[in-house]
Amino acid sequence: MRLLVIEDETKTGDYLHKGLTEAGFQVDLARNGLDGHHLAMTETFDLVVLDVMLPDVDGWRIVKSLREANQTTPVLFLTARDSVDDRVKGLELGADDYLVKPFAFAELLARVRTLLRRGLPAAAVEHLEIADLVLDLPRRRVTRSGKRINLTNREFSLLELLVRRQGEVLPRSLIASQVWDMNFDSDTNVIDVAIRRLRMKIDEPYHPKLIHTVRGMGYQLDVMSED
Ligand code: CA
Repeated sequence: MRLLVIEDETKTGDYLHKGLTEAGFQVDLARNGLDGHHLAMTETFDLVVLDVMLPDVDGWRIVKSLREANQTTPVLFLTARDSVDDRVKGLELGADDYLVKPFAFAELLARVRTLLRRGLPAAAVEHLEIADLVLDLPRRRVTRSGKRINLTNREFSLLELLVRRQGEVLPRSLIASQVWDMNFDSDTNVIDVAIRRLRMKIDEPYHPKLIHTVRGMGYQLDVMSED
């Protein structure tokens, strides 16, 4: 893991460099804003520890510039000012966390480790499957038994919700809020109509049936022995 520390105060810079190196990181130290900014823009780091108060280019300008260039490297701000405004400003400009000086090194290390963990790509789920039904999430495509099924956007969202929460009985009100992003009166049949259409497409020609009506409660997607 490679870290960039941008800190103009000699003592603090040396201390951070030494401590983080001993903690097992590869550390580049920039002693002014210009050099730090240049390094952050041209080289690849896993995290930037950025002092806000720098004599030339301040930390806010650096993080703003990084984010404007679509640089997503996590940034931990070091600020001497413990004012809410400063913190909010830092976070709004795209910093990921901040630490108020003076700080204990152990705390800095803990924040750094947390940010690095957060930065790791989560195992992205791209496909959802149940029985022979497959949802390709990035492409918003559905196949059953290997055959492509055309769904509207809304139908896809409805099916995705049912598959993600397979086995659960989902009340109409929950489906309404998740798929239509609004609250429906309980007497509306919009959801029933949408479910009926979805069934015709993904269930009618196939076995086993996946979408089930739970009387008086809602809908459930599951593999059941017989329907
Ligand atoms: Ca400083």
